[in-house]
Amino acid sequence: MPGALFCVFCGHEFPVSFYALRMNIFEKIVNREIPATIVYEDDDTLAFMDIGPIIKGHTLVIPKTCYDPVTETPDEVLTKLMLVSKRIAAAQIEGLGADGVNIIQNNGRAAGQLVPHIHFHVIPRFDGDGHHWNWDAKQYDSPDEMEQLAVKIREGLAE
Ligand code: 5GP
Repeated sequence: MPGALFCVFCGHEFPVSFYALRMNIFEKIVNREIPATIVYEDDDTLAFMDIGPIIKGHTLVIPKTCYDPVTETPDEVLTKLMLVSKRIAAAQIEGLGADGVNIIQNNGRAAGQLVPHIHFHVIPRFDGDGHHWNWDAKQYDSPDEMEQLAVKIREGLAE
């Protein structure tokens, strides 16, 4: 485990102790061992307010059973998570007057994941809310470079 983790979006540094503290934090929320502001619950799924919102209203959607990462999560669980995320997005538009919604799902430390329990971030967006993803689009050196990477992904799909 490294000495620190860095948020890929804002560059914020989280010490390892923060990471360790949060390792099972969502299971603790599911088990009601720590409080959370819950907005939706059913037999399999929980949706609650993110304690550190990117935009106020930022909601997390999780399965009550811990799976991680997305590639190890059963299809039916992913389907349920996306359907609940869709409902939360609609509720943010209806209830909060959001003009748009980001739905984000991080996998692995390199992707900015802090809590190893699959979750979808549902983030309400408002015209002029001032938030900007650091969407630093790159360019391929050549069409051939892009095609070479596409070949490897196709090979992965065939496995
Ligand atoms: P990740 O970086 O793993 O995709 O996102 C984890 C999210 O969990 C972060 O947005 C963070 O603010 C949120 N979070 C971490 N600890 C807690 C907590 O104790 N309660 C709540 N409600 N959210 C948390």
